Amino acid sequence: MEEQQVMMVDLVGEYHEIKDEIDEAVHRVVESGHFILGEEVEAFEHEVARYLGVRHTIGVASGSDALLLALMALDIGPGDKVITTPFSFFATASAVVRLGATPVFCDIDPRTFDLDPGSVRRYLEASYTPAVKALIPVHLYGQCCDMDPLLELARTYNLKVVEDCAQSFGSTYKGHQSGGIGDIGCFSFFPTKNLGAYGDGGMVTTNDDDLAEHVRMLRVHGARRKYHHEELGINSRLDAMQAAILRVKLKHVDQWTERKRVLAAAYDKELSTLDWLQVPYVMPECRHTYHQCTIKVPAERRATIQEALAQAGIQTQVYYPEPLHRQPCFSDKQELPEEPLNVDAVVPSVLSLPMSHSLSLSATNAVGEVLCSFSCQQPLCTSNGCLHSASTAPLG
Ligand SMILES: *Cc1c(COP(=O)(O)O)cnc(C)c1O
Repeated sequence: MEEQQVMMVDLVGEYHEIKDEIDEAVHRVVESGHFILGEEVEAFEHEVARYLGVRHTIGVASGSDALLLALMALDIGPGDKVITTPFSFFATASAVVRLGATPVFCDIDPRTFDLDPGSVRRYLEASYTPAVKALIPVHLYGQCCDMDPLLELARTYNLKVVEDCAQSFGSTYKGHQSGGIGDIGCFSFFPTKNLGAYGDGGMVTTNDDDLAEHVRMLRVHGARRKYHHEELGINSRLDAMQAAILRVKLKHVDQWTERKRVLAAAYDKELSTLDWLQVPYVMPECRHTYHQCTIKVPAERRATIQEALAQAGIQTQVYYPEPLHRQPCFSDKQELPEEPLNVDAVVPSVLSLPMSHSLSLSATNAVGEVLCSFSCQQPLCTSNGCLHSASTAPLG
């Protein structure tokens, strides 16, 4: 009998759920003969603007480019400093370094994994200079940063706020959608993100008319009018095929997010009795969209736990095994005001569990059984209300 696999995400299975709609969209684009920007992209931009409640949305080639273009539009360059978190995907900081500016890595809140406003405040109070121009909060795993204290600091020190929303499509803070909270928002439509394309894609969002105009120009080589280049821009455009696919998926995204929230609650229930691990903490101000369901386990046992889950056919991932302040390419280009102890503590402990709307409740149950049995020494463990067999953890 073939063993059932529990994947982190099942992109093919998810395609089959909406195959007719996707096929129709792809067909429409192919027949239109328009493949870059154009009507399909504009329609998608309008639909996302309405969804997020922001004035401007600009489709670009990737989330990495969205960050780069946002910083370019804010005129970030050599000599400037940009405060951010070292516990993120590479692109958050590489956009800063690419422009000749310096990322200042502050610490995170170990409960939410997001930038800690206290650490940012300590840095600004001790070391602020006018070179500090911007702040990039990253809404990691689908939960927004604690934005109010960060916005307050940004106002006090006149910093622009660039939200890294690559993992937070649909996430809210005090009822506000991410991407419209700071000055400018950067989304990724990488296939596994909350709203994922069938290729690369990204978006810049803003309520500022001038910033929007600037990003629109920069994404087409700095030309407002064809073949007349006012500024040195880049080539970073969303293509029509991705836009058409994303328009289909946008219609389903709320329903899928709700399903992920149900699954997260199921994980919570399965795992909350295991006092040696920590389930995701959700701030009361936030609607968590569970781009990842990331638990914390004892560092010295993580590899063994991953192996036990893999034995049961359950995939897991570590996001991210090497924090940005330890990346060789940033070593002489960063500022580290204090040792980010919380980052160093969570890096060896985090473990992301399978999470996608197509996951079954029997899969979350199977994860629970493995983790539960893993913690038990006896053949039949009864600690913490656990009644699972230790030696075998069958898939339910
Ligand atoms: C995925 C991701 C990006 C980059 O997006 P791409 O579309 O892959 O370029 C940036 N920041 C974070 C936090 C991400 O997760």
